[in-house]
Amino acid sequence: MEIYCSQLGMLIGFSYCMSMNDGLPCRNSIDCWKERLDIVAFLKAKYSDAELKKVFGSLPKTRLDRIMEMIREV
Ligand code: SF4
Repeated sequence: MEIYCSQLGMLIGFSYCMSMNDGLPCRNSIDCWKERLDIVAFLKAKYSDAELKKVFGSLPKTRLDRIMEMIREV
């Protein structure tokens, strides 16, 4: 699967989005991929809570809370 990355200005593959952050997913991955697959379930199945916190932990509190809530609900 490919997607247009607004940060890079080009088409990139899903595998890039899942590994571009020191081997972990891009912090924008939920927003970018949520319309195309169950990205929250994918992230939860593939990464530990610690890894997900590392990826999304630096987001502003309200957005982080929303994402962690989505992950907990899956
Ligand atoms: S998840 Fe990150 S790398 Fe992938 S398309 Fe979105 S902004 Fe670009």
